[in-house]
Amino acid sequence: MLTRIPARAPTLARARGFASSSLAGKERLVILGSGWGGYNLARKADKSLYDVTVISPNSYFSFTPFLASTCVGTLDFMCATEPVRGIKKVNYGQGWAESVDLEKRTVHVVPALPAQHKTEKDIPDELGGSAELHAAFSPGDAYDVPYDKLVVATGCRSASFGTPGVIEHAHFLKDVREARAIRYRLLQNLEIATEPHITPEEKKRLLSVRVVGGGPTGVEFAAELCDFVTQDVYRIYPHLKNQVSITLYDLAPGILQSFDASLRSYAERKFKRSGVEVRGNTKIVAVGKDYLELASSGGEDPERVPYGLLVWNTGLQANPFIEALPGLDKDPKSKSLRVDPHLRVCDADGKPLNGVFAIGDNATPNDGHRLPATAQVASQMAGYMAKLLKAAGRGEEIDKARPFKWKDHGSMVFIGDYRAMVDRSKAKDEGPRARMSGFVAWVVWRSYYMTLAMGWRNKILIPVYWALAFFFGRDVTNF
Ligand code: FAD
Repeated sequence: MLTRIPARAPTLARARGFASSSLAGKERLVILGSGWGGYNLARKADKSLYDVTVISPNSYFSFTPFLASTCVGTLDFMCATEPVRGIKKVNYGQGWAESVDLEKRTVHVVPALPAQHKTEKDIPDELGGSAELHAAFSPGDAYDVPYDKLVVATGCRSASFGTPGVIEHAHFLKDVREARAIRYRLLQNLEIATEPHITPEEKKRLLSVRVVGGGPTGVEFAAELCDFVTQDVYRIYPHLKNQVSITLYDLAPGILQSFDASLRSYAERKFKRSGVEVRGNTKIVAVGKDYLELASSGGEDPERVPYGLLVWNTGLQANPFIEALPGLDKDPKSKSLRVDPHLRVCDADGKPLNGVFAIGDNATPNDGHRLPATAQVASQMAGYMAKLLKAAGRGEEIDKARPFKWKDHGSMVFIGDYRAMVDRSKAKDEGPRARMSGFVAWVVWRSYYMTLAMGWRNKILIPVYWALAFFFGRDVTNF
């Protein structure tokens, strides 16, 4: 399987001196992506056996469970990131993997610089993965990165399901840059709404926040926003009291469909009390600069609903890089790479490729068992991969290694006002505390994610920011 490689592309080893320690007898391990899968693997990989190189457009790891908190200032953006360059003995190239040459064992990389001008939604669907697109964002020259072992951990993109106007006007929430954009827009709208010339209709629009998608991401964002509005905005902007509206839309009848029914109705009751309106069975058919169009039930014109901020969280779609890789076994539904029980990428005939692996959201087991697209799965795959590569590096046969097995630890979601829900009813070791909701669940939720924070800087910073928000309120500085 070959993909297009420009003749002039220098290798990364020559261009930047990366991956050069293969001379020192180490194999070159190249990891694509710095998310839950890629970043975790880069930390855990055995550097005495491998010369590790990470290629990712993001020079940092985004701790996604805290993104909603950063949108409203419960946490600083720094609390939800870890720098890739902070990992010892790891080379890093800020770029997009564009193609893989499986014969030459190289990855073709297009620099992703300057990164600050790009968010995920800036990539038009029809251009996804193309050199033209990357060139538009990347003034630097492309280069090739040679590998002995390749781990693809490029994740997925937020899905718009082809709804017109979403890419142009809605905010996704998948990365800290997007969280920053949401925060900016939210705080800006509050200021504009206080301007003397603003009409009551315009004020109402500016203060209307619409969240599309009632999964955990949309729910946590709505919950964080509701806390921010009631605990801080109405204190700082008393003239806006009770004027901010938050509406959550979903195609399903309600929110959090993956949770147990009793927890779902607990969350819906909680939202009702807090004033977050949940509109189930609602399809958004188009998005304009400042309005949504909702499908009508009886053939009339779609209902037009104005918004000041629109956050879109309706699930995932394939990464254009993965979609463009030819000759590989892909899941027909998710278009992700199908992997064997040792997480090896398979060719079109379903045979595992030597030395090429996939982990995280862009990998689907080829045994017919779909795994949820979660950080839990991605980090377990990364841990497994680090061990597998260590064994392989010591000469053990991959086929004889223990296959990857995912352990379901259950799901958690924050629903606001010091409350959360924990659902372990599908986890194997289901016990009396399989379902939990309320304050105790909130303590469990916070403690669990605190312990998951990767570096010591964040293990210290996160409780400090929580305490600052609790005692002094959230920061509303808009820069
Ligand atoms: P990602 O973390 O998405 O990382 C992909 C990486 O690849 C990124 O660094 C990206 O820049 C890079 N990349 C993309 N294209 C290329 C390319 N062409 N070349 C090189 N690099 C590329 N899961 C939970 O289990 N619990 C939670 O509480 C939870 N909360 C969440 C909250 C939010 C707001 C979101 C968005 C997700 C949440 N998730 C949660 C899901 C979880 O974050 C994902 O399942 C997880 O990030 C998947 O990890 P990954 O490594 O596969 O992909």
